[in-house]
Amino acid sequence: MADESQGGFFSDLFAPVAGFGVTFATMFRKVATQEYPEVKWPTQPRFHGRHQLNRHPDGLEKCVGCELCAWACPADAILVQGGDNDDERGLRFSPGERYGHIYQINYLRCIFCGLCIEACPTRALTMTNEYELADNNRADLIFTKEQLLAPLQEGMLPAPHPMVEGMEERDYYQGKVATATPEQRTWVEQHAAARAEQDAAASVGTDETGEAR
Ligand code: SF4
Ligand code: SF4
Repeated sequence: MADESQGGFFSDLFAPVAGFGVTFATMFRKVATQEYPEVKWPTQPRFHGRHQLNRHPDGLEKCVGCELCAWACPADAILVQGGDNDDERGLRFSPGERYGHIYQINYLRCIFCGLCIEACPTRALTMTNEYELADNNRADLIFTKEQLLAPLQEGMLPAPHPMVEGMEERDYYQGKVATATPEQRTWVEQHAAARAEQDAAASVGTDETGEAR
């Protein structure tokens, strides 16, 4: 009985500080706090983030407007409307017959499953590692084609413009096109004014959410 009373005495004595044991031990552990957004940790390489519509090395778009990504999407988050490339009117956006005229992804619906990028036959659609997609209104979370298109890399020209001279659609997919040619550059410079007018007309044909009227 004497031992029990002694043990009880020490237990009672240290009881108030015993709870701090966890605190003290934690003070010497590696800090797990992420100072987000000042410090951003890299994601895993195959992280499913924001989508991107890719381009060929000369700047033409890879999307052919086939809508397979939209059909594959379980959340009905993608809207695609294809259009015909028209060389006579200087409206070629992709190497094939068709291109993605309207392309939207609704990030209020998207669950980042990646089924759309698996369905894409041209590797036009891929997912980046970008995850900062929060916003406070619906309109800003419906991304348009202009927002999703990959930025122009060195050697690329913004579509529309003709294909590389002497090349067919298949040549693009066989990696035979490495960069925009001087002929394409000249064509783009000559049609820059007309393109600006087309862009202005296209912006009149969309509402404030970027959806076609
Ligand atoms: S990641 Fe999934 S939910 Fe999001 S657009 Fe693609 S298929 Fe739809
Ligand atoms: S992103 Fe791919 S699957 Fe979707 S419309 Fe374009 S080519 Fe077709």
